[in-house]
Amino acid sequence: MSYRPSVENVTKAGSNEKDGLYEFVVKMVDGTACRVFYSRYPEWRLTNISRLQQSPCPICRKDFICKCMDNFSGVIASQMHEGQWFDKALAE
Ligand SMILES: [Zn+2]
Repeated sequence: MSYRPSVENVTKAGSNEKDGLYEFVVKMVDGTACRVFYSRYPEWRLTNISRLQQSPCPICRKDFICKCMDNFSGVIASQMHEGQWFDKALAE
């Protein structure tokens, strides 16, 4: 599988500060967008990921729900950390 997600931009879509739950929209350089859910405590942890259906899946090409992005949650999560996207998204 040659697909490799590359995080281009992250925006906060929702949060429950009290419980440390956050929802972000992550845009990839290829135009794929995902909704990701994070739990902040004790440390940032990706709990769920789903592709926004505004563009077909880059892996299976479906334009409806699929689970392909689940396989890339680890890669995307590490890019979220490396790019310090939490700080950037929350500062907006
Ligand atoms: Zn797919």
